[in-house]
Amino acid sequence: MKKFKRILVANRGEIAIRIFRACRELGIRSVAIYSEEDKNALFRTKADESYQIGKNKGPVEAYLGIDEIISLAKSKGADAIHPGYGFLAENTEFARKCEEAGIEFIGPDHIMMDRLGDKIKSKMVANEVGVPTIPGIEKAVHSDKDAKKFADYCGYPVMLKAAAGGGGRGMRIVREEKDLLSEFRSAQNEAKKAFGIDDIFIEKYLEKPKHIEVQILGDKYGNLVHLYDRDCSIQRRHQKLIEFTPSICLTEEQRNNICNDALKIAGAVNYRNAGTVEFLVDSNGDHYFIEMNPRIQVEHTVSEMVTGIDIVQSQIMVAEGFALDSDEIGIKAQDDVQVRGFAIQCRVTTEDPSNNFAPDTGIIDVYRSSSGLGIRLDGGNGFTGAVISPYYDSLLVKVTSYGRTFSDAIKKSTRALKEFKIRGVKTNIGFLLNVLNHETFKAGNCDTGFIAENPELLD
Ligand code: ADP
Repeated sequence: MKKFKRILVANRGEIAIRIFRACRELGIRSVAIYSEEDKNALFRTKADESYQIGKNKGPVEAYLGIDEIISLAKSKGADAIHPGYGFLAENTEFARKCEEAGIEFIGPDHIMMDRLGDKIKSKMVANEVGVPTIPGIEKAVHSDKDAKKFADYCGYPVMLKAAAGGGGRGMRIVREEKDLLSEFRSAQNEAKKAFGIDDIFIEKYLEKPKHIEVQILGDKYGNLVHLYDRDCSIQRRHQKLIEFTPSICLTEEQRNNICNDALKIAGAVNYRNAGTVEFLVDSNGDHYFIEMNPRIQVEHTVSEMVTGIDIVQSQIMVAEGFALDSDEIGIKAQDDVQVRGFAIQCRVTTEDPSNNFAPDTGIIDVYRSSSGLGIRLDGGNGFTGAVISPYYDSLLVKVTSYGRTFSDAIKKSTRALKEFKIRGVKTNIGFLLNVLNHETFKAGNCDTGFIAENPELLD
């Protein structure tokens, strides 16, 4: 057991603040890093200490400087680094170099990360433990000949995916053979540009599935629990916009099967720390593993709301060496994870839905947020006078609501979103309200095609 004194957070915005808060509650000093472009960002003022990194490197590259970040952590006496999500969170070299430098990486070790963070390798793990995966070939495609052969094997429509992909990038749907090769090349280029690796694989494209994922938590001693499921089917271009828990569309039997399959995959590599196992559920109710995210996710808030478990604190304590069933973490067994009520998270972004969700930038002239019973806000850059720059993703604030019933949670989210007053930049609040109050959403029955099929939601 090693109680941390100082944690460096290798991230920015709302997730950095989320982690600083967990540190403070645990009596640990927090260290922020920030780029030149983030000099005036709110998050850095929320940490106990903050240091500029990546001078002259560029806004994103600054947060990717592995050696610089690790040596800063060492020089400031940090015992651990929390990577948040995005940036270096799934970078095996970073995890390995932290280990080599004697700094605890708050996440899985680099070997687990390598086996589960890559979409091809993790499908192989799922196959080994008998968890269904989407029909396809668990092998990167490099030649035109293989692309044709594998697509024929899957049967059209097929999905081309980057093995290292994330955030919906490097993904292409191909409905007819004539489009295969051009789409294959553009998927390769996109993957190379975004992830530095152009490994593409091919699997069957499922029409209008639901996206259901399972939050898991493991310690260093082989204990593993799940924190139930989240429905993340409200997506635009394969990116999540609204997530809720528990899923409405699953029977208890389906829920248990999916959660147990998630544990099987994580158990296969003795997974430790927080992670998410993602599945697609087709119209027959059959589920298929798609990928595992070996890190904290944007939508972890909803699971925290209904279970009362602080996932970020748990991550830190697991990294310190506490067992899940220790008094500090207090999850003695799976039965200790109880779900009460419903939670919904809406991602408020500075995007203009009427202009194809183009990111908007500028100065926020007015920022009034909401609060009240059942509302949790996780924000990073929303305040009067804030400058919304084009350099980073457009997430402004996550609005998570809690209700005893799903309809109660929808009412709370609706009320909270309407209380916001944001002027100076466009936001997607009107669009989120349209979704929340659509009959299909209220029935908990949206699939991943919902937004594309309902253009009136953009009005
Ligand atoms: P990323 O890591 O980029 O988020 P995922 O593998 O998690 O990519 O997939 C993101 C979304 O893309 C899924 O939630 C789903 O909507 C869609 N998707 C992925 N694979 C398939 C597939 N084989 N068939 C249909 N939709 C898919």
